[in-house]
Amino acid sequence: MFDLGYYKKLGLEEIAAKVTDGERLSIADGEKLFACPDVTAVGSLAHLVRTRRNGDKAYYVVNRHINYSNVCVNGCRFCAFSRKKGDPLSFELSEEQILEKVQANDNGLTEIHVVGGCHPELPFSYFEGLIGRIRELKPDTIIKAFTAVEIAHFAKNEGISVAEVLARLKAAGVRMLPGGGAEVFSERVRELLCPEKLPAAGWLEVMRQAHAMGLKSNATMLYGHIETLRERLEHLVALRELQDETGGFVCFIPLAFQPENTGLGKMQPTTGIDDLKTIAVSRLMLDNIPHIKAYWVMLTVKLAQTALYFGADDFDGTVVEEKIGHMAGAKSQQGMTRSEIEGIIREAGFRPVQRDSLFNAVNGAVVSC
Ligand code: SF4
Repeated sequence: MFDLGYYKKLGLEEIAAKVTDGERLSIADGEKLFACPDVTAVGSLAHLVRTRRNGDKAYYVVNRHINYSNVCVNGCRFCAFSRKKGDPLSFELSEEQILEKVQANDNGLTEIHVVGGCHPELPFSYFEGLIGRIRELKPDTIIKAFTAVEIAHFAKNEGISVAEVLARLKAAGVRMLPGGGAEVFSERVRELLCPEKLPAAGWLEVMRQAHAMGLKSNATMLYGHIETLRERLEHLVALRELQDETGGFVCFIPLAFQPENTGLGKMQPTTGIDDLKTIAVSRLMLDNIPHIKAYWVMLTVKLAQTALYFGADDFDGTVVEEKIGHMAGAKSQQGMTRSEIEGIIREAGFRPVQRDSLFNAVNGAVVSC
């Protein structure tokens, strides 16, 4: 299938053989892939894996993001979203406003994605009640809510265990956790950029406990700031190891750092080549996570289309209103319609499949070309 001679010239012959045989790649393999000057060679290997797993399908979800507040006790330097309480740019949606958003323009909504900052004052009972009311309004819609960082914050604020927070949220109606807050697991990076934030081991432990309770989740990596390529690979391997243990990750989302309006505003954004290579290496390293997302909000639609040939098989969704990436300078539109997403996927040469949060085809139907 592959011209192994070509991969030999690039010094990737052994890696290509491992990929074709379905063998696990090491961190050293990952370093060689990142070092390879031919991004299409790396992309072709990732495309092989993507096609083996997902054929020509490219998934999307009809979802709505709700950012309930940007007030946060932490001050992560890469974050353009958070504000301290009282800051003129801080916001807190009322429960009424949130419920209005939940009910507006349903359009076949199957997922409500709820995340915010680590608010210093809102009690856990508020979030529990909010999820319960969203569930009453939308009993058939999957509520994907609260990053591991928010979960740990609720536990700390309330003086209860992470397990209790998760169990109560699950009882209220949370079906899945988003993958945010993982950033890069490297202690060196976290010490410099987000020392107040839940440490890497804490993030992994929240996910371990969530998965043990039957809550699936996504996982992310924020790349393109001060981390090294090896630290990216170590992050991927830590996720892979937890996935071996729990099997609870559904999708991995590489998030390109957007420097605008952050404490790292002088840094350059990632290049398209870095984005594509990172998606491809993620697909190749994460041999036990079924899906890799090309998050069009951060990548731009054009690059997300291209990423479908570099290992990604998911396009995320309609989103409707996105604040976190846009406050950091994301240039994409705020949301897209189903027909826009389907057209973009088809134009890229893939078959659009509307999915729910757990990647079940909606109505059991695969949309044909
Ligand atoms: S990244 Fe999350 S935890 Fe950090 S400051 Fe922003 S909202 Fe708060």
